[in-house]
Amino acid sequence: MNYFTSAALLWLESILQERFGHSFELKEQKHMLTLSLPGTEDYIVFDSLQPIFHQSRSDFSCKLWCASGEGFQAPIEDLIPAPAMDSLPTRLIELHEQGGTIHYDILGLTYWMLTRLEEIGRTDLDNHQRFPAISSHAFRHGYLERPIIDEWLNILGQVMLRVWPGIELKQHKFNMKVSHDVDCPASYAFQSVKGLIRTMGGNVLVRKDIPASLRSLWIWLNSKQAIHPRDPANTFDWLMSQSEDNGLVSAFYFICGRTDISKDAKYDPEMPQIRRLMREIHQRGHEIGLHPSYNTYNRPEEIIKEADRLRKVCEEEGIQQNEWGGRMHFLRWDQAITQKAWADASMSYDSTLSYADRPGFRCGTCFEYTAFDVATDKPLALRIRPLVAMDCTVIAKHYLGLGATETAYEKFNELKNNCRKVDGVFTLLWHNSFFSSPNDFSIYRRLISK
Ligand SMILES: [Zn+2]
Repeated sequence: MNYFTSAALLWLESILQERFGHSFELKEQKHMLTLSLPGTEDYIVFDSLQPIFHQSRSDFSCKLWCASGEGFQAPIEDLIPAPAMDSLPTRLIELHEQGGTIHYDILGLTYWMLTRLEEIGRTDLDNHQRFPAISSHAFRHGYLERPIIDEWLNILGQVMLRVWPGIELKQHKFNMKVSHDVDCPASYAFQSVKGLIRTMGGNVLVRKDIPASLRSLWIWLNSKQAIHPRDPANTFDWLMSQSEDNGLVSAFYFICGRTDISKDAKYDPEMPQIRRLMREIHQRGHEIGLHPSYNTYNRPEEIIKEADRLRKVCEEEGIQQNEWGGRMHFLRWDQAITQKAWADASMSYDSTLSYADRPGFRCGTCFEYTAFDVATDKPLALRIRPLVAMDCTVIAKHYLGLGATETAYEKFNELKNNCRKVDGVFTLLWHNSFFSSPNDFSIYRRLISK
């Protein structure tokens, strides 16, 4: 029995094609994987395939391989984590007359990480039924903040250059993607009369701040057609200007349904203020996307309904886009269900995959890739755009808890630099409503400047 199905090998070939710009061929025989380049005689063999990379578990070993010790140049750190290795051979990579042999299952690791096989069917979930970072092999073995798939593929690229001298490998360029989940587009505009009275009462009785109380009433009264410019959550213009100054496009993901009244948004996409906001985002050349509501992650029919609702509103507003993407609310995700639901909703990409409790590389890569569904053994018509960091993951008390501090900025920047070192993409989520101090603005502004 082979470890890889033929569909999985074809999908891996497409991953290699995108990364290196060549159509390689992969063949598995007698528990060895051969990578060849049509038109040439030489090949690369992976002779230590790991059954663990075809299983859903995190309880196995990890060793560190020293790249420089074998004459290779590591893109980030010289010691590269090698999950599933109990011990390392004297030489991990051997070159010979017919090509090279790699005694590590780099492509098995790639399959296991990119398909998120590790988290399928798991029961060690958090209070939002999410597979948490702390349960993952990457976190337990200290490599969550490193894009290890990109590091290993970089090493594989160096082997290719030695096996096929003169081969030109595709060059990638560091890039950034910023996106904003619109959980709360306005602090006051969508409050009920009861909610507003509560806010005003709080300002008067608790904070003894009568001007603030009157200001909230004033903003609420003047937010019927458009969100008031002085509403504290109305950072849209500022976010778009920041992106424009840095040659970036901001993506704003809107909630288009209500499956949990306490956790979903107070607005509907059909409201005049939201329509107006969407038009403005579109006119300025930024992107609109979907943020499926709280209880949709395991209900594909709801994701389809909400995606259709977004596209309908956009069509009514004359908003046309080449692609539609987005991210799950609360990063809720069931690997066996959610990605297929996105594909079935005819969405082009999803950018949920990071952990809420720790930042880093949940899929082991910062590059976008085609999703693969292990249950049906098929690639999906969906691109996975791995998220690297979410604002609150680093800053908020209940997660990493670094606060809006210089330490938090450094943590974000370290992750960004790791993406830069592998010529990848730093994908950042910053909510429009997550700016509560001048430090938040400062961290964000510095972070998105190249
Ligand atoms: Zn959200």
